[in-house]
Amino acid sequence: MTDYPHLLAPLDLGFTTLANRVLMGSMHTGLEETRDWDRVATFYAERAAGGVALMVTGGMAPNSEGGVFPGAAGLFTDQDIANHRVVTDRVHGAGGKIAMQILHAGRYAYGPECVAPSPVKSPISPFPPKELDEEGIEKQIADIATAAARAREAGYDGVEVMGSEGYFLNQFLVTHTNKRTDRWGGSYENRMRLPVEVVKRVRAAVGEDFIVIYRLSMIDLVPDGSTWDEVVRLAKAIERAGATILNTGIGWHEARIPTIATSVPRRAFSWVTKKLMGEVAIPLITSNRINTPDVAEQVLSEGCADMVSMARPFLADSQFVAKAARGEAALIAPCIACNQACLDHTFGGKISSCLVNPRACHETELQYRPAAISKRIAIVGAGPAGMSTALVAAERGHRVTIFEKDNRIGGQLNMAREVPGKEEFHGLVDWYAASLNAAGIELRLGKTADVGALKEFDEVVIATGVLPRDPDIPGQDGPNVLSYIDVLRGQADVGERVAIVGAGGIGFDVAEFLVHGDESPTEDLALWKTEWGVGDPSETPGGLALAGPQPDPPTRKVTLLQRKAEKLGKRLGKTTGWIHRSALKMKGVEMIGGVNYERIDRNGLHVSFGEARESPKLIEADTVVLCAGQVPERSLADALADAGIGCHVIGGADVAAELDAKRAIDQGSRLAAGL
Ligand code: NAP
Ligand code: SF4
Repeated sequence: MTDYPHLLAPLDLGFTTLANRVLMGSMHTGLEETRDWDRVATFYAERAAGGVALMVTGGMAPNSEGGVFPGAAGLFTDQDIANHRVVTDRVHGAGGKIAMQILHAGRYAYGPECVAPSPVKSPISPFPPKELDEEGIEKQIADIATAAARAREAGYDGVEVMGSEGYFLNQFLVTHTNKRTDRWGGSYENRMRLPVEVVKRVRAAVGEDFIVIYRLSMIDLVPDGSTWDEVVRLAKAIERAGATILNTGIGWHEARIPTIATSVPRRAFSWVTKKLMGEVAIPLITSNRINTPDVAEQVLSEGCADMVSMARPFLADSQFVAKAARGEAALIAPCIACNQACLDHTFGGKISSCLVNPRACHETELQYRPAAISKRIAIVGAGPAGMSTALVAAERGHRVTIFEKDNRIGGQLNMAREVPGKEEFHGLVDWYAASLNAAGIELRLGKTADVGALKEFDEVVIATGVLPRDPDIPGQDGPNVLSYIDVLRGQADVGERVAIVGAGGIGFDVAEFLVHGDESPTEDLALWKTEWGVGDPSETPGGLALAGPQPDPPTRKVTLLQRKAEKLGKRLGKTTGWIHRSALKMKGVEMIGGVNYERIDRNGLHVSFGEARESPKLIEADTVVLCAGQVPERSLADALADAGIGCHVIGGADVAAELDAKRAIDQGSRLAAGL
């Protein structure tokens, strides 16, 4: 008897059957653009072997004007079709199914050739789109249908027509972007003509026994978005036009409401898909912030959808479904929705990977092969660097002992998990605990390793982490000054008015921690929706709440400071920095850059501005919290060097500057792959 009867139930589509209710949603990993087809095939085949019923590729451009960026991958030539055959053959060989997403970006295309229903520039692209004429529209439809036919030729089991997230098809649907007065604009009948025509022509191009998924924007989260009646009407029309399955799209890319970040509650939008259940006869897929088999099972058992789509969780663990089916859910590496190695990489022009699993999209290059000789390996420090080293080393057959001076594992992750909006870190630490245990790794908690204890090992890995940097501000020894460690460990009384020195990742985290009461909106969907202004598309078009964002008042008055004269939070994650900044602004946090710290006294923090140290100002504060970055903790590494014992130094103990768990885990895993 499985714990996941709904999740693991097959789904009969008539001409074919899906093995279970799990779709790996489309992700733009950048792999296709490498043109290393063995690498692309290995990525998908590993996931097919891991049991997911159906996968959707990253978006493929139907033509050059519709590509997300110039040169975006697509099936344009016979060689392209042959290349994609390598992928589909390997997926089928591994027992899986795969559909190709056709993505026409419309005005979101990052290039001067972009086209749209009307010449309305998007706020997230510098390129004003060209308005299409009748002939141009026909060309787009024909190109999309051709792309679908080529996908079939390349061996795909289906296509997903991308109709959501504010891309081309979505742009026709709403008056926000469609100002036309011809038969493609004006009434809803006219505005939905393009998506419906596209699905009809795709179906005609691929025949009856081919999966056609249509991704439909069920809540646009932009002004003048679709009404719920329009969503239902479109869904019915798309079904009639020949779609096999409807997938859920949540929010346009230009929406100012987070939809997939870690601070978004789990399954925050499954209620939207549920509204559509019963309106159409074809299966519905729900998505967004579903990252464990338990959450997925709950969503399905409550009748919110027929299938669930998870995307990033398959970067974190390719064996998600297989482990769930084997009763090993605790061993599924969790996606913590941080975006740090996936979307942030994509938007930075780099190949995606995963903070938790550096092998993601690097499967052919980073391999954990059995070690020729099983060594005794000591690892000092049970933070992300040490734990990832331990897991990979043990997987390769080494005998691993971890020394940790704290009486629990986790290192800095234990601070992150205390921050409202970062609750996913609990799951990450739990996964490490379960995995270390399953791998038979010896954990010596509460043990400060010394040179003597480490002598007997074949390899020593120092992952002792970091120490807080001393900002050396006159008065910092006063009773009103705390370190971020005291605050995040909940071991100190913090006053009503707080000045935070340093606005890096930790300064932002501490501010978030201090402006919230006991409740975290991430743990309370109703509260989160109110804070961000998410309403019901049945009541307001696009689902934006009429009252707008209504955050709870902050529990403290916080001022966040830095010396750099640049926007605070500029160096936070590319795709999540705006969320942290907006969240703190909503809580009235004052952000001041370009300061010199003069001194701290009982009235607060005294600062000045500029090289000439002008315009002295007192930031009145009951408490000053120091978040001035970190320095490596290398005392043990130095002692080993003095004793002539070689060691590997990784993570924060190696380089503390702008350290994050992504770099620590990557470095640890790569080291262990070669030990
Ligand atoms: P950081 O990002 O390096 O930021 C250090 C801050 O301290 C900066 O604002 C810096 O600004 C200031 N600072 C540096 N030297 C100073 C000095 N001598 N006196 C006063 N201020 C000084 O370090 P962090 O905030 O400790 O963050 C690193 C950790 O944050 C990592 O462990 C990471 O995992 C975690 N984290 C990352 C994220 C993320 O989004 N990537 C989010 C949360 C937490 P000025 O030099 O301009 O004053
Ligand atoms: Fe999930 Fe973060 Fe990995 Fe992306 S990098 S897949 S968000 S854990």
